[in-house]
Amino acid sequence: MVDTYLLRLTDTLIEKRKAQISASGFRSMTNSNHMCAILKDGVPISYGTNVYATNGCVTEHAEAQALRRLCERMGRNAKKIKIDILVVRTNGSNSKPCNRCLNYMDGLTGRFNINNIYYTDQQEDTGLRCVKFSKLLNEEERHICAYDRNIVRRYHGNPADSLRSKSPQFINSIHQNQNNQVRCA
Ligand SMILES: [Zn+2]
Repeated sequence: MVDTYLLRLTDTLIEKRKAQISASGFRSMTNSNHMCAILKDGVPISYGTNVYATNGCVTEHAEAQALRRLCERMGRNAKKIKIDILVVRTNGSNSKPCNRCLNYMDGLTGRFNINNIYYTDQQEDTGLRCVKFSKLLNEEERHICAYDRNIVRRYHGNPADSLRSKSPQFINSIHQNQNNQVRCA
């Protein structure tokens, strides 16, 4: 399922992201630098990277940014297209999309027919894993990213804090999933 073309593309994205990071002078404490390419017929049509807020938290994930940019570019009335999504992490470790990103992707099924999700995973011989989007969506255990985990912690510590401004759906989604946490990628 993972061919040499995709492996080369993976290496290219990792090099691109590393170059961006060193050019920005930003040093990540968590070494959590991601990049995403949306593929149509195997060809990248949109890119995204994770975005850090000034406090060092990741606020937008690479796959969400790549999809958002593509949506903006395509406009409202574009025909639904079939895509694959490639997510890499510069240190090659697990970059499986988190719960929040999977929900975001699920919300875009009117615009995209998402087929395969490729993500870096050191447990694979090739370093890249391929899973059907529909399979990831139906997995019991979804990965909760560190940013969302901290929101959950803050919320339980002090319900009167900034979470008040978040939507009830968002809070519910965290509450439903907080017991199903898996290792943070
Ligand atoms: Zn994510």
